[in-house]
Amino acid sequence: MNKPTDDQDLRLRLSPQQYEVTQHAETEPPFTGEYWNVKDDGTYSCIVCGTDLFRSETKYESGSGWPSFYEAMEDGLIETREDRSHGMVRTEILCATCGAHLGHVFTDGPRPTGLRYCVNSASLDLKRD
Ligand SMILES: [Zn+2]
Repeated sequence: MNKPTDDQDLRLRLSPQQYEVTQHAETEPPFTGEYWNVKDDGTYSCIVCGTDLFRSETKYESGSGWPSFYEAMEDGLIETREDRSHGMVRTEILCATCGAHLGHVFTDGPRPTGLRYCVNSASLDLKRD
């Protein structure tokens, strides 16, 4: 696992898009990210700090164009906060370990949780099984 690091190191280590998404809460355009259409088995971890966040078993086809999960691997891995940007009230999701922006969580997901964790590919690193 990588340790959370300083800003200059992050700029070197991440792609410009990964940096903008995780550090400035940018959103990658839908249907463009690395993982929205990936069905491989594995663990999705935070691109910044390497903490494991989501398992492929909870990834599902949401039609949104972003990787979507109905559940995080464990309680406490994901932090939420209210996001009132862009004239909407949404719930932002962040890596609880390093504070990286991941995406948003919505309540229109499938059973059993009814949640849709809508995550930028740029925030994730898939470790295939
Ligand atoms: Zn992190």
